[in-house]
Amino acid sequence: MTKTTSKSGGRWAKSAEFYARALELMPGGVSSPVRSFKSVGLSPVFIKSGQGAYLTDVDANHYIDYVMSYGPLICGHAHPAVRAAVSKQIGRGSTFGCCSPLEVELAQIITTAFGSMEMIRFVNSGTEAAMSAIRLARGVTGRKAIIKMAGGYHGHMDAMLVSAGSGATTHGVPSSPGVLPRVAESTIVVPFNDLPAIEAALASQAGDVAAIIVEPIMGNIGVVLPRQDYLRTLRDLCHAAGALLIFDEVMTGFRVGYSGAQSLYGVMPDITCLGKIIGGGLPVGAYGGSAAIMNHVSPAGPIYQAGTLSGNPLAMAAGLATLRLLDPQEPYGQLELLGRRLADGLAAAAAAQGIPVTVARSGSMLTLFFTGSAPASATVGAAHTSAGAKSIISNYADALMCDTRDYARFFSAMLEQGIMLPPSQFEAWFISAAHTPDDIDMTIEKAGAAFVHCREAHL
Ligand SMILES: *Cc1c(COP(=O)(O)O)cnc(C)c1O
Repeated sequence: MTKTTSKSGGRWAKSAEFYARALELMPGGVSSPVRSFKSVGLSPVFIKSGQGAYLTDVDANHYIDYVMSYGPLICGHAHPAVRAAVSKQIGRGSTFGCCSPLEVELAQIITTAFGSMEMIRFVNSGTEAAMSAIRLARGVTGRKAIIKMAGGYHGHMDAMLVSAGSGATTHGVPSSPGVLPRVAESTIVVPFNDLPAIEAALASQAGDVAAIIVEPIMGNIGVVLPRQDYLRTLRDLCHAAGALLIFDEVMTGFRVGYSGAQSLYGVMPDITCLGKIIGGGLPVGAYGGSAAIMNHVSPAGPIYQAGTLSGNPLAMAAGLATLRLLDPQEPYGQLELLGRRLADGLAAAAAAQGIPVTVARSGSMLTLFFTGSAPASATVGAAHTSAGAKSIISNYADALMCDTRDYARFFSAMLEQGIMLPPSQFEAWFISAAHTPDDIDMTIEKAGAAFVHCREAHL
């Protein structure tokens, strides 16, 4: 677990010290699991500061950052406008337990951007947004079951911590101890991009499905795009069954375009979950929909949901400052160009070394999948093996076929060269408006060397 440090003679010495202390104080040494670098077999880097597209760690190593806090920082670290807004607000007080104008301003911008949301409720995280959206859907419909996608991530609430049996429709089995089977039982898991599975799941529930919840572009198994017309047909099937459609756009909202994946694909959900970018790097989530639906939420209606720090003025100020830097054209045009440049460059660099990869991308979120060899994992069924490495990744089972050892080699070689990638094959990379074409070209050049490293490991 200390490979990073031992291998490089003290280059990460201070990170190693903090990690040793952290391991004594926090489970796995972290506040959120993926930060541990466990899935790439290294020990984590501790960050001292971020500026624009760059990170500096406690040992003064510099990195071009593609984690970008897993999505919120579309304008880069420590953007001057966000800093100014938060500084100004903190001098006026950080929380009141009363209404503040900032909530109204942010709600106005978001509901204008998202036509499907007439009203919105602010919460403190994406987890809370999804949890509340599901309660709302159940409360409004008076129904119980929720259909989710295999590998779909909607935060760490009990009902959504259900693992997927790959392939067929499965009833929920908790994927974490501590989740009651009774709670997970009402969660039905289906593969993404599989309409017959949706039909079967709806039919199996005899009119008791409250909602289908989906990341319209999946982002938490790596980036997986919806097939042509998948979302539209999904919505039609959902509505025909009297269920509500929930788009979890915590990652994609204001990311794949100003008005999210719903506008990109022209499919409007009943309820939308947001987070990440709308908080500008501070903790914010939100859920919203039509006034008819949202007026069921307390105190307008009977469905209870509350929060001491919800609509927190500092977080609202950071979110407002961030959204005011965005409009429907920019930085999305620029991000599309940077995203394409990176994706094409990575694919070409991999091809030059004969490393089979596929790059899945929507705008400035992308994943480099190492499709070379199926992992020796018992959870991957034989039926999927023939789908094989070269095919486009269209669901969780496909993603699980990827070579995580190759990803780990690549990650390590990139880290050594000052490129910070997400420490897992199954995460999205994010480009910000602070990244330059030179950053992208430098990244592609370093990737070339990292692919050589992967190829040599195969010999
Ligand atoms: C990040 C994320 C969440 C959870 O948000 P937190 O703020 O980490 O609780 C939920 N859904 C999706 C799609 C996400 O990407």
